[in-house]
Amino acid sequence: MRLIKNKLLKITYLALLLAVTTAHTAISQANKAANKPANNVTPNLIIITTDGFRWQEVFGGMDTAIANQSKFNQGDSTYIYNKYGANDLATRQKKLMPFFWSQVAKEGMLFGNRDVNNNVDVANPHWFSYPGYNEIFTGYPDTAINSNDYMPNPHPNVFAFLNAQPAYKNKVAAFGAWDAFDRILNEKVSGFPVINGFESITQLLQDPVAVSIGQGLKDSYKPFKEVECLDVYTHQQAMHYLQTKKPKALYISYGETDEWAHHAQYRDYLDAAHQVDAWIAQIWKWVQATPGYKDNTYILVTTDHGRGFNEAWTDHGADVNGASSIWFALMGPGLQKIGPLGEQTQKGQFYQKQLAATMTKLMGKPFVASHPIGSAIY
Ligand SMILES: [Zn+2]
Repeated sequence: MRLIKNKLLKITYLALLLAVTTAHTAISQANKAANKPANNVTPNLIIITTDGFRWQEVFGGMDTAIANQSKFNQGDSTYIYNKYGANDLATRQKKLMPFFWSQVAKEGMLFGNRDVNNNVDVANPHWFSYPGYNEIFTGYPDTAINSNDYMPNPHPNVFAFLNAQPAYKNKVAAFGAWDAFDRILNEKVSGFPVINGFESITQLLQDPVAVSIGQGLKDSYKPFKEVECLDVYTHQQAMHYLQTKKPKALYISYGETDEWAHHAQYRDYLDAAHQVDAWIAQIWKWVQATPGYKDNTYILVTTDHGRGFNEAWTDHGADVNGASSIWFALMGPGLQKIGPLGEQTQKGQFYQKQLAATMTKLMGKPFVASHPIGSAIY
């Protein structure tokens, strides 16, 4: 840039105008080519999780080994076969997760297909929720975090790190029905709102239009209404917040995939994942239509833990074979820095603890903390 400027001083005004225009065009084309965020706008981060959703369905669509067992389908698999069934893999993938396999597989990146040895695992030894979410947000798989009832997280997370910077201050929020998120993200210390289903959002966000996620608890499916509401309430609230408050860092936690799996209801598990895919499409559409977000927003979609194979698909935890296996998806500008776009088919081993560093490196705001942090994947 400096070199160009010095040269320009020596030429006539008209030529200067032309040169500037040409330079601008060249720069804007270069930016377009690299698909980089505009220099003067700090990038946004949206992290989305769907609890305990298996890599097997992300990459394989409906799993016939489970679909064919009547005990997982109340004796009738017609519905899921009609909606998600197909002989060829590509059709099955698209039927279950159309946004993932039309758009993310083209413009984004998909990691975790173990069928091609592109492996993603949690680094913590526990294989359930609090340790998993801790690992995503702090990059530190502290083995001491060994219970979902664990105390408020002693380790600072990536959203608190962003919230401490002027560009992100008071523009950070988290939504999840599960009240453990207040502890996992240590709301009291972190300084950004963590909205769960058991508190009044209207008061917390000072937004009279906001609908409490907790409203959903009353209507929710009985077996898990003590723990969380249906995802639709979390989503509507988070979407409303995104559109009205325009946060620069946002977390949305969906929980139904895990709940239905524990209740051994494969149809509802698949429907929940299909719905999450549609919501991510809605979020992406809004992002790409909104100034300040368009081509300037990084999205990470992942899960806290895996689950077992076949019969054991309902379960997870350290004693369940395969429950450490996860996946993740990335969307945003300049992903070419990491590697080729689309489904990652090269051999590799990645860990959940690398996600915080990866996202913040992409944003140009590398996460630093006093605890060890898994390194970025590129
Ligand atoms: Zn679970």
